[in-house]
Amino acid sequence: MTSEARFVIVGGGLAAAKLAEALRENDFDGTVTLISAEEHLPYERPPLSKEHLLGKKALADFTVDPGQWYRDHHIEVRLGTTVTAVDRTSKTVTLPDGSTLPYDKLALATGSTPRHLPLPGSDAPNVYTLRTIEDSDTLIKLFGKAVRLAIVGAGWIGLEVAAAARAAGVAVTIVETADQPLLAALGPEMGEVFADLHRAHDVDLRLGAQVAEITTREGGGTMVADGLRLGDGSIVAADAVLIAVGARPNIELAAEAGLAVDGGVLVDASLATSDPDIVAVGDIAEQQHPRLGRRIRVEHWANALNQPAVAAATMLGKTATYERLPYFFTDQYDLGMEYTGYAVPGEYDRVVVRGDVGKREFVAFWLDSGNRVLAGMNVNVWDVTDRIKELIDAGAPVDPARLADTAAPL
Ligand SMILES: Cc1cc2nc3c(=O)[nH]c(=O)nc-3n(C[C@H](O)[C@H](O)[C@H](O)COP(=O)(O)OP(=O)(O)OC[C@H]3O[C@@H](n4cnc5c(N)ncnc54)[C@H](O)[C@@H]3O)c2cc1C
Repeated sequence: MTSEARFVIVGGGLAAAKLAEALRENDFDGTVTLISAEEHLPYERPPLSKEHLLGKKALADFTVDPGQWYRDHHIEVRLGTTVTAVDRTSKTVTLPDGSTLPYDKLALATGSTPRHLPLPGSDAPNVYTLRTIEDSDTLIKLFGKAVRLAIVGAGWIGLEVAAAARAAGVAVTIVETADQPLLAALGPEMGEVFADLHRAHDVDLRLGAQVAEITTREGGGTMVADGLRLGDGSIVAADAVLIAVGARPNIELAAEAGLAVDGGVLVDASLATSDPDIVAVGDIAEQQHPRLGRRIRVEHWANALNQPAVAAATMLGKTATYERLPYFFTDQYDLGMEYTGYAVPGEYDRVVVRGDVGKREFVAFWLDSGNRVLAGMNVNVWDVTDRIKELIDAGAPVDPARLADTAAPL
């Protein structure tokens, strides 16, 4: 690429920042403009429901790069700026004031937005979602004054917020439609581990329950939420409600530009979209994964961290493919876990546990019907991720009894 080349990154999360880094690490000396709708430099989101919410980390601790880094590396950062359109014919992006910015190569890293619930009462001012630093700060203030929090959804964010709220002394009720927390991610066997964990911390967990309405009352001249009415008519009283029912990828820009989209923006193994001058990374990228041989979209930190190196190479005309297995982590109370691999509930055959589930110190393996390891989750057991990866990569049948035997080496 010549030094006149203009690269534009739309988005201001981890993926956008890592892409800017990767371009400069590859000695790209053209212009790089990063355009973010947020008012802050790109930051990592996992602490928003963990260390930040627990008062242990400030924004500066998880800001990806300080302002000086962008200045030193001649990255133009435009904050508080939402790109409204991409014109692939003129190769420009449109800014809110109607002006346009030309690009030679474009990266889309627009991330996700929390899903809302189209329920009566959901627009009350004390009904919250969690995606940004502002949302997390709002919850911190809330923990200082609310006595009872109702959380709709027992996914990762709902459970992590529940753990932080309990640490702050807030009474928590979680209402979940499925029969176990995290059912879609982990399946019933390991979902139960998280149900037990939260019950052990006095969370009132209502599983297999529908929310019919967010109930409201008059408060300070407006209608404020005061609880949930469930499908069976029962009432969960609360001072505030958190909706944590997942996120939806921000693919409108790509779709309106005529790029191929499905659940996410479709990308090939090199993270190129259906337009060779445009890549997509992070939460929005629905990739044809070379190792898994299927299309997947992964809404996790590790994807946003690692995909940009490949996308940067692709933008620079080099050959690179993204082949890493999905990886994610969570921290709740004194449970820390890492999950590596891909085992969709309904597609795995059995879960083999190595260690002590009761003590929450174990590794769980998801096996297919041929006893091949699809995924592994280490709970309060560390430094085994590489070993889990090797077992998945080997693609060879394992002896489940030996796998479960902590006396046998992994
Ligand atoms: C509270 C919370 C906790 C999490 N915890 C974990 C965890 O423990 N482990 C884990 O693996 N993952 C976790 N995740 C998921 C992880 O943070 C995401 O997968 C990751 O943030 C995705 O990065 P991204 O850069 O693709 O998107 P995002 O982080 O969503 O960033 C997208 C950015 O693009 C901006 N943008 C969108 N549209 C436009 C536009 N048109 N113009 C300009 N800018 C735009 C947005 O404002 C935003 O700044 C968590 C997420 C949240 C919200």
